[in-house]
Amino acid sequence: AVAVGRRVRSRRSWTRAVAVVTDLEEGCATPYSRLRQVVDAMAVEMHAGLASDGGSKLKMLLTFVDALPDGNETGTFYALDLGAATFRVLKVQLGGKQSRILWRQVEQHTIPPALVSSTTEDLFDFLAMTLKNFVERNNDGFEQSDKRKELGVTFPFPVRQLSVSSGILIKWTKGFAIRDTVGKDVTQCLQEALTKRGLDMQVAALVNDTVGTLALGHYYDEDTVAAVIIGTGTNACYIERTDAIIKCQGLLTNSGGMVINMEWGSFWSSHLPRTPYDFALDDETLNRNDQGFEKMISGMYLGDIVRRVLLRIALESDVLGNSAHSLSIPFVLGTPLMAAMREDDTPDLEEVGKILEENLQMHDTSLKARRLVVRVCDVVTQRAARLGAAGIVGILKKIGRDGSGGVASGRARGKPKRTVVAVEGGLYAGYSTFREYLNEAVVEILGAEVARNVVLRVFEDGSGIGAALLAASLSSEQ
Ligand code: BGC
Repeated sequence: AVAVGRRVRSRRSWTRAVAVVTDLEEGCATPYSRLRQVVDAMAVEMHAGLASDGGSKLKMLLTFVDALPDGNETGTFYALDLGAATFRVLKVQLGGKQSRILWRQVEQHTIPPALVSSTTEDLFDFLAMTLKNFVERNNDGFEQSDKRKELGVTFPFPVRQLSVSSGILIKWTKGFAIRDTVGKDVTQCLQEALTKRGLDMQVAALVNDTVGTLALGHYYDEDTVAAVIIGTGTNACYIERTDAIIKCQGLLTNSGGMVINMEWGSFWSSHLPRTPYDFALDDETLNRNDQGFEKMISGMYLGDIVRRVLLRIALESDVLGNSAHSLSIPFVLGTPLMAAMREDDTPDLEEVGKILEENLQMHDTSLKARRLVVRVCDVVTQRAARLGAAGIVGILKKIGRDGSGGVASGRARGKPKRTVVAVEGGLYAGYSTFREYLNEAVVEILGAEVARNVVLRVFEDGSGIGAALLAASLSSEQ
């Protein structure tokens, strides 16, 4: 009788666990019809954000970048590329159209976690000091000593640009929380820190990381019209016609266009499939009610959505053993671990078992339980990738490259234009399942014929080099 009771309890427990996952699948569903709604909403919000400041959750920020590198740049340039947990310092030597990047030196550093919530001075002093050491170490004597060193800076947060080389931080994202930087001119903060450290350098370009990626994309492929980052955070930028930037009437540029930093992380639409796990996650973040799209898509959050689902399973059933305690620790399951738990593990999902054991103290999980965990990871990944795809097609729709035959559409003139979107960020570049889901969804939304002319091209580490290229193309010596 005891054994029978145990079997019944275990069956009930399993049914409850499966019900949690089925609910999740329903809540995260992104069928074609929903993706189309997201595409349309993205295009509508883009229009609204371009019409007036505050007209949409999409900020559609001006970048003052009106020309992109084309290969003709020459000279030696530096870049400082801030990431979320790391930053890079780079030096590149550009040799013009034939030889392109002659030489590059890149150093990656970790940002001490304490700096993320320290003071403006501490953060920028740390960056200036690391840059100074790098410059001194890499001084090969070939540079003209009478010339001030030019620096391109990627700053991956929403900035209201004052010019192509300066701008005010609107807000932090991705867990950064240095209150006294908001409202300050980022370039001025950095320039002061550089001066204090005795480094004579000039910030020639201050750009969002998406803009750096677009610059590198365009440098190698002039059909590149947009860039998307799906890493710790997510965002996109693209080239817009100046006459479509209604909020800035009379804006004139030589090219007739300007790169717009969309800040799509804060995109919101009622069509987005949001689950109770998303609401709970948002409630516990530093930037509540903000960056809604980012919280469903980017690497900072995906692992934690999965953790929340697993916690619910652990609380409602005994399928995951006594793991509720470990699962209640925020961010204990990072996105890289989530990405490593995949179906194409060994048949008995050994790696999954190891990850659960080592990180979540889930000992001796059953194969059935491990399969359920993999399913949860897959549902969350798939939703993120498909929403990212819808976002990209939204941009293509706005610029008439989605095959729908708008004014600017190549198709309307009978000759489809090749459209390249530069992509950067660990989720797309380093997580093949995510990349495949996203690519498939782009084809699904656009249709195979139109999708044939759309190329998503990975530019890993592109944003830093892109910033150096922009510094070069803006430099007085050009
Ligand atoms: C920031 C963007 C950035 C993106 C990718 C977001 O959190 O708001 O400015 O481009 O992350 O790094």
